[in-house]
Amino acid sequence: ILKVQNMTLGFGSKIVQHDLNFSIKKGSIFAIMGPSGCGKSTVMKSMIGLLQPKAGAFFVGDKNFWKTPLQERDKISRRFGVLFQNPALWSSLTVGENVALPLQMFTKISPQNIRKLVALKLALVGLDYAIDLYPSELSGGMRKRAGLARALALDPDVLFFDEPSAGLDPITSKRLDDLILNIRDGLGTTIVMVSHELPSLFSIVDDGVFLDAETKTSIGLGAPEYLKEHSTNPIISAFMNRER
Ligand code: ATP
Ligand code: MG
Repeated sequence: ILKVQNMTLGFGSKIVQHDLNFSIKKGSIFAIMGPSGCGKSTVMKSMIGLLQPKAGAFFVGDKNFWKTPLQERDKISRRFGVLFQNPALWSSLTVGENVALPLQMFTKISPQNIRKLVALKLALVGLDYAIDLYPSELSGGMRKRAGLARALALDPDVLFFDEPSAGLDPITSKRLDDLILNIRDGLGTTIVMVSHELPSLFSIVDDGVFLDAETKTSIGLGAPEYLKEHSTNPIISAFMNRER
């Protein structure tokens, strides 16, 4: 359902990645992989409508995303849920109010029903008890899950998740992986994640692209497990077979 075609990305005269080609199947979990600074977050930005590519195309279904008028582009990206690398919850709002925000902004749902939906989303991520807490009262893992509940508020078709497990201990990170799997299996959400956590990559990811920082293009396509076993590229082998 998503397809990146000959895409080149950069800022000003600086090229971050060029000639990227990959597609993402509906209902799959897809990973954007590669070393720090190679451009993973930048690629994600271009797929959620925040950075216009310098060349190439991004297709959502049969729509050429960056060629469609802004209004329709907005409509398409309304079907995307996004969780950034440093999820910013509004610190002056409770967890429940944070999750309610997209519903208040983009729907005409009544306040009572919003309250119900918020409770439902928080239950989904195991945070029903935290609805009236403030972000400062949450642990890192809880904050990620609250951000996830907010990203799921509008029932997105595609969830973009930058570094789900970064900064979390292995057990919390495993719980988040299980949650991501549940969301995909239960809701059929397509998930695009940026990750360099090997346990997550091997256990939940179906397919992915590996970006190189030196040549500034993709050097591998496929499931992480497949890349680990079959890639002849020394950079990918080193990445996939590292100790941690
Ligand atoms: P990390 O794993 O550390 O999150 P990343 O793979 O997500 O790294 P990006 O954040 O996409 O990497 O950055 C890729 C390159 O683009 C870097 O050289 C970065 O300095 C540059 N860059 C990112 N955002 C901007 C910006 N707004 N303006 C100019 N350059 C930027
Ligand atoms: Mg990043």
